[in-house]
Amino acid sequence: MEKKWVYLFEEVEGAEKHAGGTWDGVRGLLGGKGANLAEMMRIGVPVPPGFTVTTEACNAYLASGGKFPEELWEQEIAALKIIEEKTGKAFGDAANPLLVSCRSGAKFSMPGMMDTVLNIGLNDETAQGMVALTGDERFVYDAYRRLVQMFGSVVMGVPDDLFEEVITEARMKAGAETDAELDAQAWKEVTREFRSICRRQKGYDFPRDPFEQLRLATEAVFKSWNGKRAVDYRNAAGIAHDLGTAVSIVTMVFGNMGDDSATGVAMTRNGSTGERQIEGDYLTNAQGEDVVAGIRLTKDICELKKEMPAAYAEFDEVARRLENHYREMQDVEFTIEKNKLWMLQTRDGKRTAQAAVRIAVDMAEEGLISREDAVIRVTPEQVDFFLHPQFDRKAVAAAKASGGFLGRGLNVSPGAACGVVALDADLAEKWSKDGKDVIMVRPETKPDDVHGMLASKGILTSRGGRTSHAALVARQFGKPAVVGLSELMIDMNRRQIRIKDELIHEGDMISIDGNVGELYLGKLTTTVPDIRDPWLIKLLSWADEFKTLGVWTNADYPKDALRAREYGAEGIGLCRSEHMFFEPERLPYVLKMIMTDLPIERREALEAVLPFQREDFAGLFRAMDGLPVIIRLLDPPLHEFLPNHVSLRRDLSDIKIRLQHADSLEKIDELLQQFKEKEKLLKRADSLHEANPMLGMRGVRLGILVPEITTMQVRAIFEAACIVAKEGVEVYPEVMIPLTAHVNELKVQRQRLEEEARQVMTEKGRMIDYKFGTMIELPRAALTADQIAEYAEFFSYGTNDLTQTTYGISRDDAEAGFLIEYIEKGILPDNPFATIDEDGVGQLMKIGIEKGRSVRPDLECGICGEHGGDPASIAICHKLGLNYVSCSPFRVPVARLAAARAAIMEKRGNL
Ligand code: PEP
Ligand code: MG
Repeated sequence: MEKKWVYLFEEVEGAEKHAGGTWDGVRGLLGGKGANLAEMMRIGVPVPPGFTVTTEACNAYLASGGKFPEELWEQEIAALKIIEEKTGKAFGDAANPLLVSCRSGAKFSMPGMMDTVLNIGLNDETAQGMVALTGDERFVYDAYRRLVQMFGSVVMGVPDDLFEEVITEARMKAGAETDAELDAQAWKEVTREFRSICRRQKGYDFPRDPFEQLRLATEAVFKSWNGKRAVDYRNAAGIAHDLGTAVSIVTMVFGNMGDDSATGVAMTRNGSTGERQIEGDYLTNAQGEDVVAGIRLTKDICELKKEMPAAYAEFDEVARRLENHYREMQDVEFTIEKNKLWMLQTRDGKRTAQAAVRIAVDMAEEGLISREDAVIRVTPEQVDFFLHPQFDRKAVAAAKASGGFLGRGLNVSPGAACGVVALDADLAEKWSKDGKDVIMVRPETKPDDVHGMLASKGILTSRGGRTSHAALVARQFGKPAVVGLSELMIDMNRRQIRIKDELIHEGDMISIDGNVGELYLGKLTTTVPDIRDPWLIKLLSWADEFKTLGVWTNADYPKDALRAREYGAEGIGLCRSEHMFFEPERLPYVLKMIMTDLPIERREALEAVLPFQREDFAGLFRAMDGLPVIIRLLDPPLHEFLPNHVSLRRDLSDIKIRLQHADSLEKIDELLQQFKEKEKLLKRADSLHEANPMLGMRGVRLGILVPEITTMQVRAIFEAACIVAKEGVEVYPEVMIPLTAHVNELKVQRQRLEEEARQVMTEKGRMIDYKFGTMIELPRAALTADQIAEYAEFFSYGTNDLTQTTYGISRDDAEAGFLIEYIEKGILPDNPFATIDEDGVGQLMKIGIEKGRSVRPDLECGICGEHGGDPASIAICHKLGLNYVSCSPFRVPVARLAAARAAIMEKRGNL
């Protein structure tokens, strides 16, 4: 049987069968647009007759180096015949011409990245026929010039500017401000001029034969799959390069047939806030691209209700039907031709993070989807948005008071951003690579600007609406954006912008607020937003019902612990107790503790540190009342507490010089004393110096070398626990030993801990329920986890060190060096310090868990390395059967969602 390359819209069942019975397969075969046009027809939504050339045809064309596969063209012609019958028109028939559009459509939406040609079928003869039929010469020649313009630029490769110049000239000649004011004669001349531009530029004519037009347009769409902007977009959006695009050929319907015609785009819910209200723009008497191009001022869809009530009512009903059918917010294109509604496209609508959360929750509550679906639909990145900076309210007020507020455009993509002005995408990309924060400022953006948008912190345009290219792309990639700031004058020649009386040069700092659409001069202070969004709170409460992993937090201070708790943390998975040693008021004692050779002096120093530590721990226990708190004993190398070698040497030379100029015996004595102390410090610093401190005297090794530190920390923990328990706080301390490699290290430390803990509890007359455990951050510990578990009641995977020691690459140096190149070259699939290396580090974790639990079945296993807040790693942790992940307070909400998604995916067999 011959290969089927072409499916009429009504042949969706056939496509389904061919694609293995799944909707995903149909989308893969017919592209999102083709599949949805066919589906709309199936559910009775008014769609103009048409057919789709499959992605398989595109791939065959591209694979053969640009040849139509056998039978494709014949099948296109046969399908066209059927459309002719349906419409009662004929392609190329001067008396009653059929016109079609040729639209690209890949499996995944790539807005504006590939090509489309409208009004195919027009030439001098059919144009005459159309005039006779419609009696509207202006309309026909406007349509004709659009065909030549699109065909010229898309198919023939003529620069679009040349066409635009002709239109500008025509407007000037006619004294017209907008295209709408140009008459039939003007468009006729424009069309003629367009055709001669094609001829001059390319050396051949714009093809008059409608069939040739169709064939070449189909080919151009195929080729646009591999166009630079499409490739860039796929790279950024993570879309595979071998999917190919489908081509949908659709009967033209016209929104520019007078004041009872219109064209527009709309979302079935508000794409910025998620509210359940149709949001969109339209234009009366216009063709589709006028709306998206942002050249003419569009009208709010609400006005359509007044202007064309019957068509609006049908549109409203169709929008609801589509949403109910797809169970998703839809982004639709429609045309009203002489009061008759036609739907030209529907796809899942792009939305902001807030909208995504609200829509998912609302749809679950409306019964359209399940709560599990709602949790799956929201991505961890969207939750993360709620934790992103916003401008500080005071900074905004101050800027407004001092004239720093420059204007307000449309708030199309939320978030606040500051950066230097870059007026084109290449410069934005370059400056961003140089490490600058950039705001890309353009009159409007086009698909060619995407790389600049991705590199920028934010986007500002002077033109365009909510559904403009800039708005869609910014929202998709979570870039703050303000568009349509019409007072903004952009002078590309002088590379500057002007708004009100303010002149801003390229490279000057500005701030934009995508939440409210505002532009400010200079850099505004930013704050983290309030995440108490009611929809987010609800969604995360659902997530908590589904997740099996606990979500704990890494927190060293009570204020962080409180924040994390507010965000939903169920315990502290890591308190790095050494952070408290670095506090300036404690450092002198810590120094003394290291410097002295006398045990008594060391004890004194430690006794001075103890009250501080006790207070720190008490604060954490109070903040986490009723929840576990894991305190890790001191970890960093000792010499980190000492002043550095170079500065000590400098101080010594300094003292020597001052000695030469000392003019009294007292002064000399004083300086000599200082000299001795510094010299001692230098000797100690030198003796503690290690070539590779990361693999040196740190972690448990330090606790074994200076046991008094362990004792002091344990005392501080248990004294604090007894104090807060007396206050009525429920306290569950877990004491954790870092960097264990051998079980014997743990034996020594456990004995020391138990003695001290018992002593404190006896002194205080109170028993505290506690756990003793260890970090697993060295391969040896993972491999001997059964031995270690004899002495540890819990494991916490320190995947920062475990990755470093498994790979043998330095966590401090690698990311600034070769590692990034490795990732760019594809030698490593991901940064192993960001996402757990499942095959290596993950295996060690697995071995550790299995061996550990073989000895102690209730062994509590968690993770506290940076990976604990990374969604992909959280999924791995779920698979490994950890009890919890622990991450920074700001990642806690993200981790809750990621943990729930992992559990649901596993249940659905997709993990
Ligand atoms: C780790 O190594 O993963 C860890 C949490 O400890 P630190 O980052 O303090 O070395
Ligand atoms: Mg570590």
